[in-house]
Amino acid sequence: MSNDSSENGTEFDESVIVVGGGPAGLSAALFTAKNGLETTVFDADETWMHKAHLFNYLGIGSVGGSEFMETARQQVDDFGVDRRQGEPVTAVNDDGDGFTVETEDGEYDADYVILATGANRDVADNLGCSFTNDDVVDVDVDMETSVSGVYATGAMVRPEEWQAAIAVGDGAAAALNILSAVRGDHFHDFDVPADAERVFGEVLAE
Ligand SMILES: Cc1cc2nc3c(=O)[nH]c(=O)nc-3n(C[C@H](O)[C@H](O)[C@H](O)COP(=O)(O)OP(=O)(O)OC[C@H]3O[C@@H](n4cnc5c(N)ncnc54)[C@H](O)[C@@H]3O)c2cc1C
Repeated sequence: MSNDSSENGTEFDESVIVVGGGPAGLSAALFTAKNGLETTVFDADETWMHKAHLFNYLGIGSVGGSEFMETARQQVDDFGVDRRQGEPVTAVNDDGDGFTVETEDGEYDADYVILATGANRDVADNLGCSFTNDDVVDVDVDMETSVSGVYATGAMVRPEEWQAAIAVGDGAAAALNILSAVRGDHFHDFDVPADAERVFGEVLAE
């Protein structure tokens, strides 16, 4: 499958690291990788989705949480995400002109960081992100935190409104904001039926 499905097929030089591979993190990764940003996801695989069964995700009648995650992981893998499962992030450092992400296995550079760590807000706290009076990470409507270039998404930005559909929307919003910043203009990830033929043509023909 080709991952060249963006509105302009552009490959950008910038890179994104996503910390956390639940619905919020994988949604963000899908949008950034699909549209030409080098994207790495680190995930400790403790997503709440393993405890959930969804009847409230629009467009899907009923699906197990782990089954949903399996499909999501396959989807991001198909679009070229470097998904590092079971490699938790221990710290994110702001270098001024980018970020260094640390794990026990090494250090990784990125131009943008998207935090999607669920109810665990330690990485955001240590990075110096502002918190609200409800003790969740403070973000604007584009999901950017008080640290420029760092986004926070999903359960970590809301006191109780914990739903997969909301997390997926947060991830998409963060990714589109980064894509707009990189492009220097509003980015629309609009596909049409001809794109399905182009991207999935060989699969559809089988
Ligand atoms: C029992 C139960 C039932 C639920 N039922 C529903 C339901 O019916 N419908 C619905 O919409 N929602 C339901 N939910 C809520 C849903 O699971 C959450 O809204 C959703 O999982 C939040 O997504 P997220 O990506 O923000 O966080 P999560 O899914 O929690 O993912 C966060 C990920 O980040 C990883 N992580 C954390 N810190 C690090 C780190 N330092 N480095 C690397 N990785 C890290 C975690 O291991 C985890 O994999 C339910 C939750 C529970 C507990």
